[in-house]
Amino acid sequence: DAAREVIDAHLRRKQPEIVEFEAQQVLKAYGLPTPRTVLARSSDEAVAAAEEIGYPVVLKIASPDISHKSDVGGVKVNLLNAGEVMDGFKEITARAQRMRHDAYLAGCLVQEMAPAGVKEVIIGFKRDEQFGPMLMFGLGGIYVEIMKDIAFRLAPLSRQDAFEIVREIKSYMLLKGLKGEMPVNFRALEDILMVMSRLALDFPEVSEAEFNPVLANDERAMVADVRMSLS
Ligand code: ADP
Ligand code: MG
Repeated sequence: DAAREVIDAHLRRKQPEIVEFEAQQVLKAYGLPTPRTVLARSSDEAVAAAEEIGYPVVLKIASPDISHKSDVGGVKVNLLNAGEVMDGFKEITARAQRMRHDAYLAGCLVQEMAPAGVKEVIIGFKRDEQFGPMLMFGLGGIYVEIMKDIAFRLAPLSRQDAFEIVREIKSYMLLKGLKGEMPVNFRALEDILMVMSRLALDFPEVSEAEFNPVLANDERAMVADVRMSLS
């Protein structure tokens, strides 16, 4: 299937990192909810894609050699019109070229922008030599590093495990909503955790994977970035 093909192609090319624009097919193959995303190879294609998707959009550098896109200024959110997309595309690709001379640039992803007020969480796994895939759930965004607010479970994840893990982190109250905010759709997050568990078991070659961020509100949850490592 499509996921198998992407992973095999990387193994053949001895390319251990699968970045967001390459992993799109994997997300699709697993039926994961994602923002609408199109790979644009030129600024004109980016504008056409943005018109199709509808504003505002997000632009992200698409390069197999760049897995941390923000590190090279490769992400621009909240682009509101054709002019901003046109300029954004040129700026992002020029900067990436400058900062990573030998990176191959495929273009930019044009992506549907999540509505204001979504909460960012991280869903991932790491493979433990002894115990196998260890799923993790945590708060995302700018606080991850300092908060270290993460909960763990071994795969395979049961429904009950998924239910528990999203309620285990200290920031649970934030996800439940403060001051009259609606709680995020926990069931949608649990569904994504269950899929991540399945992915970990389906592909022993994947040593770790991370959806960061998953963007959630009271209605839905979307996987807005993904990165996978092969061993
Ligand atoms: P990186 O490779 O730097 O991790 P991301 O794709 O995660 O790049 O984007 C960086 C940040 O931009 C995310 O953590 C999130 O805050 C924001 N972002 C990314 N995609 C979207 C989106 N579709 N809608 C809204 N915000 C987004
Ligand atoms: Mg990210």
